[in-house]
Amino acid sequence: MTETGPPSPPLICAPLRIEARAIRRGLRGSQTPPEVLRTGYGTTRAARQAGGMSQRSFGQMMIMGVGGGLTADLSVGDLVVGTEVGDVTCASAPLLAGELRRAGLPARTGRIITVDHLIRGAQRAKLAAEGWLCVDMESAPLAAAAGDRPVAVIRAVSDTPHRPLAGIVPGGLAALRSLRAAAPVTERWAAACGARQVLLAGPRSFCAGVERAIEIVERALERYGEPVYVRKQIVHNTRVVGELTSRGAVFVDELDQVPDGATVVFSAHGVSPAVRNDAERRRLAVIDATCPLVSKVHAEARRFAADGYTLALIGHAGHEEVEGTLGEAPESTVLVQTAEDVARLRPRDGERVAYLMQTTLSVDEAAEVSGALRERFPAVRAPSSDDICYATTNRQAAVRAVAAGSDLVLVAGSANSSNSVRLVETCERAGTKAHLIDGAEDIQFDWLAGVSVIGLTAGASAPPAVVDEIISALSGLGPLSVSERITTTESIRFGLPKEVRH
Ligand code: SF4
Repeated sequence: MTETGPPSPPLICAPLRIEARAIRRGLRGSQTPPEVLRTGYGTTRAARQAGGMSQRSFGQMMIMGVGGGLTADLSVGDLVVGTEVGDVTCASAPLLAGELRRAGLPARTGRIITVDHLIRGAQRAKLAAEGWLCVDMESAPLAAAAGDRPVAVIRAVSDTPHRPLAGIVPGGLAALRSLRAAAPVTERWAAACGARQVLLAGPRSFCAGVERAIEIVERALERYGEPVYVRKQIVHNTRVVGELTSRGAVFVDELDQVPDGATVVFSAHGVSPAVRNDAERRRLAVIDATCPLVSKVHAEARRFAADGYTLALIGHAGHEEVEGTLGEAPESTVLVQTAEDVARLRPRDGERVAYLMQTTLSVDEAAEVSGALRERFPAVRAPSSDDICYATTNRQAAVRAVAAGSDLVLVAGSANSSNSVRLVETCERAGTKAHLIDGAEDIQFDWLAGVSVIGLTAGASAPPAVVDEIISALSGLGPLSVSERITTTESIRFGLPKEVRH
């Protein structure tokens, strides 16, 4: 592990005496509390303090105080973490907001504007319409004075469109309580700051099967209009499902939630024949987004079962792909998850055993189970080509290559994404700590202590934009150099089903 240098002392700026006092109280438990500087009320005093910042020695600047909420969905006491403050970008805002939420505080990210007078009524609505979430009278000049150093701004909402300035006393007290509660988190933010390197694994993120499945839903929405029903998550990723939902896709667990005659998309993980038959009986308009590489495994299952083989399906119980494949020949197929399961296998004929695999397994784990099958049944038949798909194999090889040179690996992907979880396990098997994150907001500051090289990858169902967002957020903690290690390149594309082909 590469050691980072000693942390530079942070500086907390708080305009008002009562704000500074609330923050100091929040820091009481700290062994080395950061300096809390009272900078004064209003833009003029803030600008004067900012002018003197060059005389001060500090590593990071945190600006904290109360502020006015501009949108109706904010409540007094909410914390707004600035993504942009005037002209200054505060890139680590998603990390900070995530850490505040994990501490039980109501935190959101958004743009903060600094003005030189109190804002009321119509002006509040105008700023909200321009995309600002919060208003204050000091942050922008102070943030600009941080220069190249990490800077963050937290404003606790004291008034909102529903509770304007007339209610500032109770609103102000709620805001001060939030500031006090947020203070310990600012210390963790400061401790996580430092220069780092990111090693990007290549390939990473979307595979051809996921791109195809998402495109199928998008085209179905365009062609047939909303709602388009999708059985199960189209791919296992929270962000993808959220975006498609906002565009009119309706995700259901089972077909009985789909109205008769409606359009339904089968997810990339595939379905069993029983589900297909049910859809036909209900006269649903089906568009099949099953990945062709999953369909290939289904076809193998049908072929082996028709030839009288007992099928050992190597995979994870409960995964949708496994349920779909098991359904092709339920009488002939047994799920084996471990070498112990192989020892328990009781085939009809030990000379007629074949095995298949879930497409998103760990290459090492699958090799262990298939090895046990070969040992116990020397005549065992294997699939004609590897069932673990190219995308899974490539992403595991790529992350192994970056894990070797990293202190920590971050894997973008959702918890129910099999191939993403396997990437975490691949790193851990290689001796490097790894965490699965849906987005930048899931990164915990404690993970970054003593870490100077971060490996970064994304599962096959995680959008490339999430990787960009993670890099951007990490760049807000200090100088960040990014390099990529490409172990192979991919050019596979799958055609679309006729229902959505132009
Ligand atoms: S991970 Fe593999 S099997 Fe799954 S959708 Fe992607 S290409 Fe297809």
